[in-house]
Amino acid sequence: MDSTGLIYHPDYLLHDTGGYHPESPLRLKAISSRLEETGLMKRLTGVRPGPPRPDLSDWIAQVHQPGHLSRLEHLRPETGIAHIDADTLMSSESYRAALLAVEGMLTAADGILAGRFKNAFCAVRPPGHHAESNRAMGFCLLNNVAIAARYLQRRHGLKKIMIVDWDVHHGNGTQHIFEEDPTVFYFSIHQFPLYPGTGRADEHGRGAGEGYTLNCPLSPGKGDDEYMAVFEKSLRPAVEAFRPDFILISAGFDAHRDDPLANMRVTEDGFGEMTRMVNDWARVHCQGRVLSCLEGGYNLDALARSVERHLNVYLSGDF
Ligand SMILES: [Zn+2]
Repeated sequence: MDSTGLIYHPDYLLHDTGGYHPESPLRLKAISSRLEETGLMKRLTGVRPGPPRPDLSDWIAQVHQPGHLSRLEHLRPETGIAHIDADTLMSSESYRAALLAVEGMLTAADGILAGRFKNAFCAVRPPGHHAESNRAMGFCLLNNVAIAARYLQRRHGLKKIMIVDWDVHHGNGTQHIFEEDPTVFYFSIHQFPLYPGTGRADEHGRGAGEGYTLNCPLSPGKGDDEYMAVFEKSLRPAVEAFRPDFILISAGFDAHRDDPLANMRVTEDGFGEMTRMVNDWARVHCQGRVLSCLEGGYNLDALARSVERHLNVYLSGDF
């Protein structure tokens, strides 16, 4: 069993953010076109998640406060676009897409634990890592990766989950959800300062969670070498000390040098190398179990090429 799962649902395209928003359906179209053109799609185990499972809202409630989901449902417009904040929008199908994104993550987690594939990438929208337990923000409605972490613990009985967040923005929502929890380690490498303004190096967890949050903020202009150095010098020792049972990746590709929303200089090679390192650590500590979900990445061509590289490493274990 050495296949890689690709989780995708066509209804992820129905989350309509209007004509000018960077987080658009074109992102997923660019990814799937690239995977088709390069022949990579044929080598992946494609999975279309089923309709949201009957207890999906219970899993969402493991992370989000009571009322968050019903507020989103209530905000859903019949037509047109509803603004949650300046950047975070909902169309009539956004609520359904958000539920399907979570369903995709849980389906992928089930597939890995059942041995259906060794690792998986969820090409989902809307993204999740900015979503707080009680608040949608930063293009994010539900915190997909955080819900998957709790699901792995409480449905599958895994104890220690590591979340590696290499999106160029800090995952404030994910950090806050697990900040006091020593069973979920949150690592983020991000441009700083940048939206959302959190993720300073001195934010390292609180209470029982002290030491289980690791922020590695970088000033603008950093590229593959600096990212590799942080992975080697900061993340590797953290993984070796924590010894996770499963690794989740908040895989945003907006640290790419061509991305319009940030100022980093990471290339496809860099994303490939980060993937390879995480894969290697997962093989040592958790039988290769890695699940990534799409967060940011707004240059369509750079995004598609970076996801292609990410998946090539997943498939081969190297590249
Ligand atoms: Zn981002």
